[in-house]
Amino acid sequence: MHDVAILGSGPAGLTAAIYAARANLSTLVLTGDAFGGQIATTNDVENYPGFDEISGPELTMRMRGQAERFGAQVVTDQIVEAAVDASPFTLRGRADEYRARALIVATGASPRLLGVPGEQEFWGRGVSVCATCDGAFFRGQEVAVVGGGDSALQEGLFLTRFASKVTIIHRRGELRAGPYLRDRAFASPTIEFLWDTVVTHVEGDDVVRGLRLRNVDTGAESDVAVDGLFVFIGHDPNTELFRGTLDLDADGYVVSDRTMHTSAPGVFVAGEAQDHYFRQAITAAGEGCQAAMEAEKYLVRLQSGAAAPTAAAAGA
Ligand code: NAP
Repeated sequence: MHDVAILGSGPAGLTAAIYAARANLSTLVLTGDAFGGQIATTNDVENYPGFDEISGPELTMRMRGQAERFGAQVVTDQIVEAAVDASPFTLRGRADEYRARALIVATGASPRLLGVPGEQEFWGRGVSVCATCDGAFFRGQEVAVVGGGDSALQEGLFLTRFASKVTIIHRRGELRAGPYLRDRAFASPTIEFLWDTVVTHVEGDDVVRGLRLRNVDTGAESDVAVDGLFVFIGHDPNTELFRGTLDLDADGYVVSDRTMHTSAPGVFVAGEAQDHYFRQAITAAGEGCQAAMEAEKYLVRLQSGAAAPTAAAAGA
């Protein structure tokens, strides 16, 4: 039995672990299948305060070390069932079962896919959602990036280190990305834009050889030869585990108030499992801190027998 179990090992979960463990709570971090969350697939982090430049994996390893120094236990397991109706909560993982008096959901979000023919077939053979992981395979080759947000441009810029040409394919005529990345992408001699265009097929033999495209205005179809396709079209929250037990919004994000309470007493949330707006490592870390501080207060109340507030009762 732990005081606090934390699901997820990105900046939200690991910051929650630092605060919970430092508050002398017995703290268990259940990492999920991939340690570090999305930030661990980012090569250059330039906007995490205190670090001019650090890689995502190094940042999360430092956070982990800090949490462990205060006594947090980090276990690699993927939770497949969570009973959250009343504390203590039971979490069934693929490897083991765990119990905790308070729970912090920091399960993050996963990249969205296009859902077009060929995308799954060529997964890992030219199709990717991680430039940091796979960019180096495309040295001297031509790649396409789908998306018009900050991720598409940031990762597209990263890919210019390897690829001879990066074509950013966007379904509209205007980028969603902010001015800083937009200006850098427009200034890059290696990046070209294809506007008002969607990918309808990924084509190839053993590996990706090209894409079938459609212009959304004219309906005209065309082909482009590329060696790789990187998809950066947003994310979906990893909250399926809590469907039917926690209040989720229409897009599946956990409903919470400003103090990270969910609809279930003793269950708190932090990071992209509840945030589809800011989605920054630093905001996730801040929410992890808040969730752990609230979990600590909840445990004090639990011990004294007082009623615990939920998201609705605490007020947004
Ligand atoms: P996003 O801002 O939601 O952008 C997703 C992009 O993909 C949009 O341009 C969208 O087109 C396009 N898209 C969505 N579904 C599509 C589909 N089925 N087919 C083709 N295109 C599709 O997601 P994001 O870029 O991952 O960014 C998420 C958040 O993280 C944002 O708040 C962003 O600011 C932040 N972020 C910040 C940084 C940074 O500051 N360095 C870096 C990365 C991410 P439409 O524009 O037409 O909707």
